[in-house]
Amino acid sequence: MSTYMSMEHLRFLLHEVHNISDVLSHEKFSDLDPESIDMLLDAAKAWTDQEWHPYLKEMDEKPAYFKDNKVYSHPQIKKIFKDAGENGWISMYFDYEHGGMQLPYTVSLAVNHIFEAANNHVTGYLGLTSGSAHLLTSFGTKELQDQFVPNMLAGKWGGTMCLTEPQAGSSLSDVKTSAQPLENGQYKITGQKIFISGGDHEATENIIHLTLARIEGAPEGTKGISLFVVPKFRILDDGSFEDNDVITAGDFQKLGQRGYSTVHLSFGEKNDCIGYLVGEPNKGLSYMFQMMNGARLEVGMAATSTATAAYYASLQYAKERPQGRRIEDNGRKNINAEQTLIINHADVRRMLFLQKAIVEASLSLLIETSVYQDKFASGPESERKNYHLLMELLTPMAKTYPSEKGKQAVDTGLQVLGGYGFCMDFILQQYYRDVRIMSIYEGTTGIQSIDLLGRKVTMENGAALMLLVQKISEIIDEASTFEDLKPYASQLKKSLGKVQEVLMKLTPLAMNGDYELYLSDATIFMDLASNVVIAYQWLKMALKAKHALVTGTGKFDSAFYESKIHTMKFYYKYELPRVYSCAETLMSDEALTIVNEQSEILV
Ligand SMILES: Cc1cc2nc3c(=O)[nH]c(=O)nc-3n(C[C@H](O)[C@H](O)[C@H](O)COP(=O)(O)OP(=O)(O)OC[C@H]3O[C@@H](n4cnc5c(N)ncnc54)[C@H](O)[C@@H]3O)c2cc1C
Repeated sequence: MSTYMSMEHLRFLLHEVHNISDVLSHEKFSDLDPESIDMLLDAAKAWTDQEWHPYLKEMDEKPAYFKDNKVYSHPQIKKIFKDAGENGWISMYFDYEHGGMQLPYTVSLAVNHIFEAANNHVTGYLGLTSGSAHLLTSFGTKELQDQFVPNMLAGKWGGTMCLTEPQAGSSLSDVKTSAQPLENGQYKITGQKIFISGGDHEATENIIHLTLARIEGAPEGTKGISLFVVPKFRILDDGSFEDNDVITAGDFQKLGQRGYSTVHLSFGEKNDCIGYLVGEPNKGLSYMFQMMNGARLEVGMAATSTATAAYYASLQYAKERPQGRRIEDNGRKNINAEQTLIINHADVRRMLFLQKAIVEASLSLLIETSVYQDKFASGPESERKNYHLLMELLTPMAKTYPSEKGKQAVDTGLQVLGGYGFCMDFILQQYYRDVRIMSIYEGTTGIQSIDLLGRKVTMENGAALMLLVQKISEIIDEASTFEDLKPYASQLKKSLGKVQEVLMKLTPLAMNGDYELYLSDATIFMDLASNVVIAYQWLKMALKAKHALVTGTGKFDSAFYESKIHTMKFYYKYELPRVYSCAETLMSDEALTIVNEQSEILV
């Protein structure tokens, strides 16, 4: 079994860096302790070693496909759905009253790390099922919950989120699918949804689509969008199924994540598609945001985990592949000297450290964000608002940094393999294709960046940003008490100052109403801000490692902690300085990308 993730790093982050015990001390989690969390993670890993990872390559080679009006997925998906339902993995974070394990969200995300690293073609089927069931337990009536949720959480019925339409991708205000009210309180649904993940397959008996649609006569734009449950099969009083006029018009054959079915659904071609309203009319998008926020962290996690698996695959290769001789041994001139392993070449080590620096800090950022989510959802009332602000600010970065830099990490891993990296016999090419989608779905990088600079940074007069700056400053101050960490603390302080300088330059644009110019380089701002936030993750990890080394209290050996400090140094030398080029671009007065009279000539 090849290594695809590190349980030690995951435990280090959960227990030592982000102190999951703090979350476990909330009353809601009183049945849990750190040991029970570790046992759960071990059980997840044992399951994925056996049932997930061995099928990764096969799911790519034998993708889900559409034939004779049916979608077929790899047979192992059906088995995993069944096992996941029976063993409670789909309902991990659901409350006891819904039959769940009542785990903190952070722990379920940590389990997802193991799942995604093992086989990123599978998790979405389960994640969308729990996400859509969670929408029902949060906003649906008891009747709707009773009808759908138990079978979804049992893995018998799958779940999807149906937002995207041919004309409405990034801009959901253009959703056209319509809902016509019937006298019995139900709705007739008509419309087209595209790119629906897990939208059709044979792995479950039924598929429950949480669908955005517009009730006839509703206001235009996002204020007129409602949420509906639209099952593939309606459930009759005796429990039997009746076709609900949800037709699969076709599937999408994709670059990566090919085990995962992605389909075009057509609702109501025979005027017989029934939907049930969830919550109040016209509030659908705000409900859906609950699922989308979670889904953003889950996509960030999928990117992190895929890039983590790629890192371990390239690390293993570098430890086994002999090529050339070390310069230090004067090997180039001595052809009789023994070949060295490529892991001994400085440039290969640079590539491996880059991957490690990206993936380990991405995981740390995701765990920090989900801890804030847990503290907001179940912590003391007085602290909830601040944690909510922090979670809102970090979510677009926790989705985007792993997705964008995860691509670079996998690309770098492929480079470590040289020519073999380009060949189908080795797994790197698959990870390279699989990771590519992450910066597209759940809001593209462009959309996340506009959200960060346009909404999150300015939210409540910059309150979230101030809270984050305070958190970063605390780590800077603490790290400064160690002589050998001091230079890095000071480098982070200067980089943070650059972000503030950039915002001082940009904010007047927004205040003067020139939003287009203000947001025109939001993606560069995302790069700048997330670079600093990742540097903060590294300093925090190095600080915990330093404490463990000094006090001798850590759970891991000294080589483990030394490696965290070394990787922090690597990040500060090779990655953090990019803040200066980003800041220079952001502070330039030239506006080269905004539409004007010359645009047509230029593009
Ligand atoms: C494999 C796969 C699975 C998917 N699964 C689902 C699913 O389960 N459910 C679902 O509802 N959807 C799903 N989607 C849809 C996905 O969320 C959309 O593809 C995504 O939101 C982008 O929309 P689009 O493809 O229409 O691109 P567009 O919105 O047309 O965007 C094209 C480009 O223009 C940019 N752009 C668009 N608007 C702006 C703007 N205002 N400012 C700046 N730049 C902008 C984008 O960043 C992007 O680079 C899936 C897509 C894929 C490919």
